[in-house]
Amino acid sequence: MSKIILGILGGGQLGSMLSVAAKKMDIQTVIYCDDQDAPAKNFCDEFIYAEYDDKKKIYDFAQKVDRITYEFENIPFETLNELNKLKTVLPKPSINRLIQHRLAEKDFVNKLNIRTTRYVYIEQQKDLETLGDFLPGILKTTTMGYDGKGQYPIKNIEQISTLNIDFSKNYILEKLVKLKKEISVIITRFGNNKYEIYEPIENIHKDQILRYSKIPADINDKLFDLSKDWSIKIAEELKYIGTLCVEFFIDRNENLYVNEIAPRVHNSGHLTINAYNVSQFENHVRAVCSLEQIPINKISNAEMMNLIGDQINTYRENTNLSNNQFFFDYLKKEVKEKRKMGHLTTLK
Ligand code: ADP
Ligand code: MG
Repeated sequence: MSKIILGILGGGQLGSMLSVAAKKMDIQTVIYCDDQDAPAKNFCDEFIYAEYDDKKKIYDFAQKVDRITYEFENIPFETLNELNKLKTVLPKPSINRLIQHRLAEKDFVNKLNIRTTRYVYIEQQKDLETLGDFLPGILKTTTMGYDGKGQYPIKNIEQISTLNIDFSKNYILEKLVKLKKEISVIITRFGNNKYEIYEPIENIHKDQILRYSKIPADINDKLFDLSKDWSIKIAEELKYIGTLCVEFFIDRNENLYVNEIAPRVHNSGHLTINAYNVSQFENHVRAVCSLEQIPINKISNAEMMNLIGDQINTYRENTNLSNNQFFFDYLKKEVKEKRKMGHLTTLK
């Protein structure tokens, strides 16, 4: 059989890690990205720099590859749909369209009788004036948000006029949950009732950005099982192929809520590279390229620390790590505040 060539839209660190996993299985990768300096350029076999709506470049990309996937969700639906006419795109473009819209995503989850935070759709400023019931809350853009971007925490109605909210965009207003913990569940689905699911990961965020992840999550058995059950239900209902992550909130009364779904590999799953026999990245490549499904085994408990902004410098200068520590440098050209520059996984 000739070698498989996998096309990946998006060139961030997730694209890099997918490329590394693919290479291990003798699969070549072509990365398509709108950032000329994208980190995945250092790890893929071929790199295409173009806008996501450049029809000609998109066509050329499709000609070069056998399968197509993506490493972030904010890709125009039209692009995925056009590509899907030329080569199979997985996860399916319709799934990405559903999940990349916070309102559609939350409506979908609720229809499965799975709890989310309370939310309401906001089209214009005056919609906010009668919604004291949802405060304190967080206003979130319906599309294109990540790492807390496009979000406004709102304490009270008086505060709204001082926030300079851009109402050319649509939002949802979400009631703030009194968080005890955040966890995520990563699942790779290969077909009907065929999936590999990782144990729940506990996550700590600061300023809406993920800082630390660890397994095992410090949660009770009921939440351990329920978070996995809900993730399986979501993946099955979507007929999802590939790796998916469900982010959850746990409140002070031990209630579980789905926060959001990521139709892709996820930052909290970086630790699966060292803590499992098969990582979330390898599993994603296996599922989208229709390779063999291998049962996953945990090798070790683990902690992952994101290195944000200039936190990376210490590790770049001092590579003197213990043998249970694994440092990943995303090789981003510029160190920026709040930018994910690398991570460190420690096996426990
Ligand atoms: P993003 O798409 O930027 O990841 P999220 O909706 O996941 O956006 O929000 C980022 C983080 O902000 C969450 O992981 C959580 O820590 C905090 N957060 C968001 N919404 C709420 C909420 N309704 N209640 C409490 N915390 C929240
Ligand atoms: Mg999130």
